[in-house]
Amino acid sequence: MDIASPWTPPESDPPSSGALVDTFGRIGDDLRVSITDRCNFRCVYCMPAEGLVWLPKEEILTFEEIVRVVGVFVSLGVRALKLTGGEPTVRADFARLVGMLREAQPDIEMSMTTNGILLDRLAKPLAEAGLDRVTVSCDSLLRHRFAEMTRRDALDRVLAGIRAAEEAGLTPIKINCVVIAGQNEGEAVEFARFSRDTGHEVRFIEYMPLDAEQAWERAKVVPNADILQDIDAVFPLVPAEGEPDPASTFTFADGAPGAIGVISSVTEPFCDTCNRLRLTSDGQLRACLFALDEVDLRGPMRSGAGDEDLAKLIRRGVWRKWEGHRINHADFVRPGRSMSMIGG
Ligand code: SAM
Repeated sequence: MDIASPWTPPESDPPSSGALVDTFGRIGDDLRVSITDRCNFRCVYCMPAEGLVWLPKEEILTFEEIVRVVGVFVSLGVRALKLTGGEPTVRADFARLVGMLREAQPDIEMSMTTNGILLDRLAKPLAEAGLDRVTVSCDSLLRHRFAEMTRRDALDRVLAGIRAAEEAGLTPIKINCVVIAGQNEGEAVEFARFSRDTGHEVRFIEYMPLDAEQAWERAKVVPNADILQDIDAVFPLVPAEGEPDPASTFTFADGAPGAIGVISSVTEPFCDTCNRLRLTSDGQLRACLFALDEVDLRGPMRSGAGDEDLAKLIRRGVWRKWEGHRINHADFVRPGRSMSMIGG
């Protein structure tokens, strides 16, 4: 899937050893693995009400293939693994996959991003299988708005899922909230209160042009600076100390539990420090969420490539990572796949 790209990849070869580096000196050590393109929600900023045409089962990596390819990434320095989708919990036998990954990679930090609806029954088995923590998406704390944004009347069940995750020890829990102008932009302070009450970090994500219906427009993006201002006026914030992360994190100046994170991909891109890599459910490596090209790992894996061959393909794919996404440029081209197909 190559679309005319404003980026000319380097002709040079990547280093044959050491970390997964690109030509801008960034190191890719955080891998998001999508394990399905299917989802049981229909969030308005992601998927149409009727869903999408799902990938045929035979195109999706098997559990054994996922474990194998993750092993190659880990041998190349990946240290954090996030399972995602689609909705990862709809993949049959998901806890078994988590167990297989944990057995193969006892030391890796393993989390997942989920809409939370199945956590009330899956949190415990997933924790027992070796998952470390969860990020749960929740765009509104009001039942009607939650239903409008996800096209599912499921707020209570998601909140119950978050509590189940807490009881199962899948902590620290992060809550992802996509903010869209005219919909949930007035809820920032309520989410901050929720963070203080529960201790969970709430992370506001700017709406990105990755919706399958292509309804994104800049006027619907709420700059995270505005969100921080709203919260700071009620609950003063201070920048959190710690490792640099694509999310800028703040804690409450009065020492209350919880934290606020902002992922400002549109208004304040953080491409120069991006350490993320993505593997789609059909085994394509994407070095950027907005990449216009992918490196096929499934084909070679299924036609007998050894781990060394896969490692070379991965090194080359990361080496070709571009400087950054082009959302704010006139030559911006949307990737051919939308968020649920890529794995958020
Ligand atoms: N189903 C899981 C979930 O709900 O978290 C994992 C996959 S979902 C694609 C991952 C994240 O991407 C979610 O937090 C979702 O809200 C976010 N997302 C989806 N479409 C988006 C868009 N157009 N802009 C910004 N974030 C988006």
